[in-house]
Amino acid sequence: MERILSEAEAARDEVVKLCSDLIKFDSAHPEGRTDECVAYIQSYMDRHGVETEIHSRNPKKPNIVARIPGEAETKILWVGHLDVVPIGKPEEWSHPPYGGEVDGVYIYGRGASDMKGACAAAMVAARLLNEMGCRNTVEFWFTADEEIGGDDGAKWLAESGRFKGDVCLIGDGTGGGLEHPAIDIGCKGSVPTKLIARGKTAHGSTPFLGDNAIKKLMRAIPYVERIAEFRLSLPEELEEPIRQSIEFIEATIKLTDEQREAVKRLYHYPTVSCNIIQGGVKRNVVPDYAEAVFDIRLTPGSDPQAVKRRIEELVEEAAIPGVEVEVNAPEQAGYYESPNTSFAKQLAETIELVTGRRPIFKILTGGTDAISIERYAHIPCLGYGLSMVGEAHKPDEKNKIENLVLGVKVYTLFPMRYKA
Ligand SMILES: [Zn+2]
Repeated sequence: MERILSEAEAARDEVVKLCSDLIKFDSAHPEGRTDECVAYIQSYMDRHGVETEIHSRNPKKPNIVARIPGEAETKILWVGHLDVVPIGKPEEWSHPPYGGEVDGVYIYGRGASDMKGACAAAMVAARLLNEMGCRNTVEFWFTADEEIGGDDGAKWLAESGRFKGDVCLIGDGTGGGLEHPAIDIGCKGSVPTKLIARGKTAHGSTPFLGDNAIKKLMRAIPYVERIAEFRLSLPEELEEPIRQSIEFIEATIKLTDEQREAVKRLYHYPTVSCNIIQGGVKRNVVPDYAEAVFDIRLTPGSDPQAVKRRIEELVEEAAIPGVEVEVNAPEQAGYYESPNTSFAKQLAETIELVTGRRPIFKILTGGTDAISIERYAHIPCLGYGLSMVGEAHKPDEKNKIENLVLGVKVYTLFPMRYKA
């Protein structure tokens, strides 16, 4: 353990350089190409004698695995993604988004937090484990496509049987750094919902001869939004993680009173946000069609079918002719792992050894590759990410150098200590 901690400290400049270099490869969507990052990781692993394999079904979006063979039967996976979200408006950046600039404390650029920092830490961890030798077999997977659902990345790798292992550590998300260490035991899941309004077209000068679909849609939207008042019934063992998730948000994000109220309801009720509205063709034509798309998110362990039924009831209550709703409820919302498993306990111990603080267990509001890995490969996943709170997907994204070093320690120490 002492050796790992000191090797990780000694690798400070190395992990910063790796992160900075990864940021310089533009892997942003819509292209989302990971080929340059993958070639870079492969050459690093080659230099250090770590075995790699590339898996791709889209040549622009390869995935790469670095494997450290062990003697024990147990196999531990680490999974992180190389793709990033677009930079948005360049004028909102004061650091070049693909510059990978470093000052003494932070590293800047798209992906610094989400999640090239964690990928860099995992690269160093792979090198250290390979040099020191590890009882368990460890595979570090660097994937494509996470930000758009994983079709050429984790979802494909999981569905095609390429992920095999006993436990999986997800490098995505916000692990709270040294001050607020936290393990993600699950992710919320979404219930994609579309509201459709049909009417009758007419000349815009004689609207009374038509039936305006946009008007009907606007009346119906508040009914769907009332799903936010539907209390979810949740497993008892999630009550403590929910309490801690709320505390984590309150401790790490500055909130207004109104936001604080919303956070209190964040896990016991669905969140709902109407995020796309489409309808109409021309200023002088009464529209006969309009639709609204909602992002509705549920805490894992809740019943998506019950939510679906309630949304349908609400739209029925609205009783607006020509309005219907399509609710795409999955069998399960997101995923969660019990905080009481040996995997969770051992990961918590490792993080406590490194940070000196007992980590909390929380549930992510967004999704990660873990959802596909749980669903298709049936491997228990826990998240320990290196992202700074509130940095993902925003301009001037940054990460703390300290978080990267911390990641090297945890990602190296956990596979060394883990006993099945
Ligand atoms: Zn991410």
